[in-house]
Parts: sequence; structure tokens; C-alpha cells
Amino acid sequence: MIVDLKRFFLHDTPWETMELDLDFSEVEELGRPIFLPGARAQVELKGLAGSVSVKAHVAYTLEKPCDRCGALTRKTYTGTFTHILVREFSGGEPDGGEYVLVPDCKVDLAGLLREDVLLDLPWKFLCREDCKGLCPRCGKNLNEGPCTCSPEVDPRMEALRELL
Ligand SMILES: [Zn+2]
Ligand SMILES: [Zn+2]
Repeated sequence: MIVDLKRFFLHDTPWETMELDLDFSEVEELGRPIFLPGARAQVELKGLAGSVSVKAHVAYTLEKPCDRCGALTRKTYTGTFTHILVREFSGGEPDGGEYVLVPDCKVDLAGLLREDVLLDLPWKFLCREDCKGLCPRCGKNLNEGPCTCSPEVDPRMEALRELL
């Protein structure tokens, strides 16, 4: 969705709010989509002398297997992203990714926020913080209780025990 920001660039304006739907339907892992439909962004825009500030609160829900035990897990995340849109960089490109160049005062806001979310996806996706994962020997989900595998015995410890 392309938003024309001319009026924000031309005049100082107070914060204005708009809502956007974000489409992540084509984002897949192992052949299945990981975002539930319904990701939304609440975007605040403010015109300043020669630039436009963007502050966005984004909420989205992921549904995919737990990294440790594989159980299908659904989690909702929120994130806040800020950008400063400028029509040109005066005196070279500033540091940091928060500046976005919009020479014609038009910006694909949904596209910009989609990128923010994709760069901010959680590294670790667990069904719960203390997920015990699967037994490496029998594959049982240890969140459901212990398995019947005997605990790993170090042969050196075994030799030591025979000496005692
Ligand atoms: Zn898990
Ligand atoms: Zn086991």
C-alpha cells in the first residue's frame, strides 16, 4: 500500500494515526506458512521540518513447531519500529537504518513494516521457556514425562565405581 506523505512533508503536523493490514501469507518454513492471518500495524505519522517520523506498533502471531520438541505452537508478538523518512540526504548518508529515502514523498508503509518484522523475528521459538525437548535416544517428548531410557553412564565413572 503506497501512502502519499506530501502533506506531512509540506507542513509540520501533529501525530496522525492509521491502521494497516500486513500480509505475510507467503512467508514459509519447511513448506508451510508460519504467520497466522490478521497481522496489523498501528502507525503514527508526524510531519517535521523536511522529514516525517514514523512510529509503528505491530502485532502478529506465529504458528510453527517448537524448535526443541516440535510441538505446533502459536505465539503472539508485538514490536515497535521507528523510521525517519527524508526526501534527500543532505551531507551524505546518515548512519543507521532508521532513515528511509522517499524522493517522491511516497512510501510503501506496509512493505517497510513487513521488512521490520521479518528482520525482528525471534531467534528461538519454544512452546514454553523451559521446554525439555525430545530424548535424544528414544525421541519421547520429555515435557510429557520422563522416558524409560537408562540415564547415560560414562564408562570412566563405571570403572571408578568398580574400584570402590
Ligand atoms: Zn517445546
Ligand atoms: Zn528416551
